[in-house]
Amino acid sequence: MNAHLKPSNTEHTFDLVVNGKLVPGAMTLEVINPATGKLFATCARANQAQAEQAIAAAKAAFPEWSRKSIAERRALLEKIADALAARLDEFARLSTQESGKPLPLAVGEMKGAVASLRNYAKLDLPIETVKESDKGRIMRKRAPLGVVAAITAWNFPMTLLMNKVPPALLAGNTIVAKPAPTTPLTTLLFGELCKEFLPPGVLNVIVDQNDLGDFLTQHPDIAKVAFTGSTATGKKVMASCAASVKRVTLELGGNDPAIVMNDVDIKEVAPKILQGAIVNAGQVCLAVKRVYVHESQYDAMCDELARLAKQVIVGDGLEAGTQMGPLQNKMQYEKVQEYLADAHKNGKVIAGGNAIKRDGYFIEPTVVRDIPDSARLVREEQFGPIVPVLKYSDINDAVRRANDTTYGLGASVWGKDVERASEVAMQLEAGTVWVNKHLELPLEVPFGGAKQSGLGVEKGAEGLKEFTQSRIVNIGS
Ligand code: NAD
Repeated sequence: MNAHLKPSNTEHTFDLVVNGKLVPGAMTLEVINPATGKLFATCARANQAQAEQAIAAAKAAFPEWSRKSIAERRALLEKIADALAARLDEFARLSTQESGKPLPLAVGEMKGAVASLRNYAKLDLPIETVKESDKGRIMRKRAPLGVVAAITAWNFPMTLLMNKVPPALLAGNTIVAKPAPTTPLTTLLFGELCKEFLPPGVLNVIVDQNDLGDFLTQHPDIAKVAFTGSTATGKKVMASCAASVKRVTLELGGNDPAIVMNDVDIKEVAPKILQGAIVNAGQVCLAVKRVYVHESQYDAMCDELARLAKQVIVGDGLEAGTQMGPLQNKMQYEKVQEYLADAHKNGKVIAGGNAIKRDGYFIEPTVVRDIPDSARLVREEQFGPIVPVLKYSDINDAVRRANDTTYGLGASVWGKDVERASEVAMQLEAGTVWVNKHLELPLEVPFGGAKQSGLGVEKGAEGLKEFTQSRIVNIGS
């Protein structure tokens, strides 16, 4: 253990969940609170043998779990939702401590998790009649796949888990879940909570230090990988899945443009755009990551964004009033400082621009203007609270520049003339495009990335189907 780090202000033992039991790890993992940069808990870390045990447990649990009626599985999801709702504050506090996000945002994440469980518990997978004629009937059954590996990123561990675990379970699959190593605790606690309701082996949770992902995705007993993370890792996952033609859902990185039309009320729109850019310190796959503003309003919009950014209250997420917390981990903190350096070199920084001199991984909310499209901050996913504001004169040119990226996760268009803004929205190459809002994700609406931002969708009935195999049964008369 690192000598300057003091362990644990939490007494909870965070064990792996394997085959319905809490299992100490072959190793331990230190969990840092990003608001202090110091150790606040340790948890179990699995080795490969324990990952193998988790997969074997899930495989053994599959036949019985998949034979249960959907009504039984729905009822269990409801029970888990009730249990999570009853411990919402505990989960939210833990989430703030491990992720750094402000407590109200963590509370929102946990409420969303409960809502997601309940929403999936309402869905059904009925056998459909695809065709009926005098030659017979063609039916479609949605069969479960087997063992699902649910691999998640560190920015919204519970939200991402809830796009995977409830639909996978409802469809009759069993699961090995693996959170990111810097935010393992809420996922472990959720696994522990579920153990009270689910048969052994149905949901297993293991933790690694970025060293078991490949083992899971290559494993022949994993039928599907539901992955959320960076595009770079997603490509590795896809390649790894190819060996056994595994099903795969990839929710990957984004570089969302926001196009501001020339008729907006700047005072009304600027706070929404800034919020869309710096929520969770910019560590949102769908955050606003580039803002295109018409030349007639460019100066005024830059000034307003800068004024607002300077007012944001940055601090420990557990402190009342904090609007923005730290970056989640040291690696990201260091990476974002590279984007700050790029901003200073290639653009004009008009708010923030620095790491904050205090313990923890804090960066000032930053607004940058007069930066070229070729700058790293514009071309890459910054995943931090730095907003580049770019000028356009012709809307077609703004659309072309917004689309000039390998990413295609989200985008937004802002304008008083909603018809005109919607026409522009239709031209943006992204999985989700909003008009006069950004980041709204209703539970029943499918969500997924275009281009290199992903493959497949999560959420809602369409997301549920991705955890099934369509089985056509063609019955002669
Ligand atoms: P990451 O790709 O580094 O890690 C994601 C997960 O993959 C972690 O659990 C990690 O341990 C695991 N992993 C690492 N190597 C692996 C391998 N070879 N095989 C399988 N799994 C492996 O991503 P991150 O830094 O944790 O998260 C940030 C990224 O996630 C950003 O790009 C962000 O945009 C993206 N993200 C996307 C969505 C979405 O829904 N599209 C949501 C949240 C975050």
